[in-house]
Amino acid sequence: MKGLKGKNVLVTGGTSGIGQAIAVRFAQEGANVAINYRSMASEAADTEAQVQTCAQKVQQHGVRDVLVQGDVSKEEDVVRMIEDVIERLGGLDILINNAGIQIPADSHEIDMDRFDRVLNVNLRGAFMCAREAIKHFLAHEKPGVIINISSVHQIIPKPRFLSYSISKGGMQNMTRTLALEYAGRNIRINGIGPGATITPINRAWVDDPVKAEMVLKHIPMGRAGEADEMGAVATFLASDEAAYITGQTLFVDGGLTLYPDFRTAWSSE
Ligand code: NAP
Repeated sequence: MKGLKGKNVLVTGGTSGIGQAIAVRFAQEGANVAINYRSMASEAADTEAQVQTCAQKVQQHGVRDVLVQGDVSKEEDVVRMIEDVIERLGGLDILINNAGIQIPADSHEIDMDRFDRVLNVNLRGAFMCAREAIKHFLAHEKPGVIINISSVHQIIPKPRFLSYSISKGGMQNMTRTLALEYAGRNIRINGIGPGATITPINRAWVDDPVKAEMVLKHIPMGRAGEADEMGAVATFLASDEAAYITGQTLFVDGGLTLYPDFRTAWSSE
């Protein structure tokens, strides 16, 4: 992909699922990769091993890599994390806002701490990372790219996942607004809207054949997406091949946003 070799990339939530696939794909393209992880002491007992595995996959491509701890929902962590990446890689050219969580609950029973937590990670966190990256791009008068990993749920409502839907809807507006604000200063901001993708966030249905079949029958292409397919699109959007694209969200969803219920005409015949 044109223009990625030697670039410095930060991927938030980069040790798992889509983030890891994006980190590895940038390394394949010759970019140096900073991989953000939230904590070694996460609920998953194997977090440390997962972080090291991800770093090794990146190192295989002979690029520089750094691991940076930081909770994207905490302002002090974000500021320190971006400074750390800039110091250790010698600058930042591309930010991938990938870290994200979802917490299901009936909307009339949502606990506000949980509601805030999703928004703080998915939306406020992504904005704080974007803010710090933009400051750096402007201070050094250099081009910059930001890619926000949104979701099909930035446009498709997701009942029982209200804060998730709100966060991704907000992310679309953030992408468009920042893209317009900085278009004249050589900073491009785009989004990717994955459909159902095989990653740990979807363990509930990926590991259950009955639920998996239910999910897949709603997808026009009849299969879930692979994290690598998101990596390919992220590198394209960050590359010079996409030099004239800003403010867009590219849905990578096997047709999920095409109103699949209209596959056969039921309304006008
Ligand atoms: P995942 O495997 O659960 O990855 C999410 C990553 O975000 C993990 O590495 C997680 O780290 C990290 N993270 C969570 N909270 C964080 C915080 N406060 N600070 C820093 N990192 C944090 O899920 P995924 O499917 O790859 O999701 C990646 C992105 O794609 C998310 O934004 C998600 O909304 C979006 N997406 C996914 C799908 C899908 O079907 N998989 C569809 C649409 C959109 P810990 O494990 O340490 O918490």
